Amino acid sequence: MQAERAAVATADVRVGLIGCGILRSRTPAMHMAEAKAQGFVCTYDLLDMEDDERRDMSLAEMLDRVEADGYAGVNVTYPYKMEVISLLDELSVNAAAVGAVNTVVFKDGKRFGHNTDLWGFAESFHRGLKGAVKDDVLLIGAGGAGVAVANALANAGIKRLSIHDVDYNRALDLVEHIAERHPELPARAIAEISDAFSGGRPNGVVNATPMGMAKLPGSALPIEYLSDNLWVADIVYFPLETQLLKDARDHGCKTLPGSGMAVFQAVRAFELFTGQPADPERMKATFDAFDSKPSG
Ligand code: NAD
Repeated sequence: MQAERAAVATADVRVGLIGCGILRSRTPAMHMAEAKAQGFVCTYDLLDMEDDERRDMSLAEMLDRVEADGYAGVNVTYPYKMEVISLLDELSVNAAAVGAVNTVVFKDGKRFGHNTDLWGFAESFHRGLKGAVKDDVLLIGAGGAGVAVANALANAGIKRLSIHDVDYNRALDLVEHIAERHPELPARAIAEISDAFSGGRPNGVVNATPMGMAKLPGSALPIEYLSDNLWVADIVYFPLETQLLKDARDHGCKTLPGSGMAVFQAVRAFELFTGQPADPERMKATFDAFDSKPSG
């Protein structure tokens, strides 16, 4: 399957985000500010499917509507990243690898699906953990984002991957997925986190569970496993300073916050929607500006 970009150049564009419970998303601000800085207008609509006006609409109807209304594309988030695939014409390599789509581009009467979460984590990881040893990694959480992170870690050349999920079957499914797509990477499912630390220690841990979100406080990694020779990445970014990252910093670990993945997934989506490269630093500044406002 083939990836496609919208050939919009600097014409004004309209895009949006389809999902549930998305009203606090920082993505619209990042896209609109980036377009403004480049001298064109990007209108980015939050299309929350739990709003009264959309409550009775299906995802298929919503996608038909935005396409008919001339949107250049849409981001898609929880709970539609997998459901949307059956409504598309083509998938990018990354979207096919992950089995989930977070960016849809409309072009020439066709719908192209992309997964910018994979690239978003990969880019954040590459830039944010330079010099860290990445041979042996523990991934906690094997849901939608966990699949993208596992593929990004495999692409980054890690040598061994342990996967833990409270739903052990999900960890097993992800091991199978990695074995098919990255046979060079030994991956194993572990029932207990302690299994990753017996007979050797991982160099790094990635949290891809929702634990640590404002509505799910706590940490998926018990504090006793932290030490200064472990790096710790979290993909949760609300709050930015999760319990895990705070504990990790207190133990002298190198850390990588989830904001990087959130920013870089938007950077790539902007490029796909508009055909224009985006400035990651500028988009990050817009993202960070939320933290100085009274409400996120
Ligand atoms: P999901 O529901 O698809 O998957 C979460 C997985 O974590 C599930 O398999 C669940 O069983 C497992 N889990 C939950 N608690 C656990 C625990 N304590 N220990 C082990 N496993 C546990 O969710 P998702 O779409 O994969 O998203 C996960 C998190 O990542 C969310 O908080 C989301 O906001 C965040 N996320 C961030 C970005 C970003 O750009 N930074 C992108 C996507 C998702």
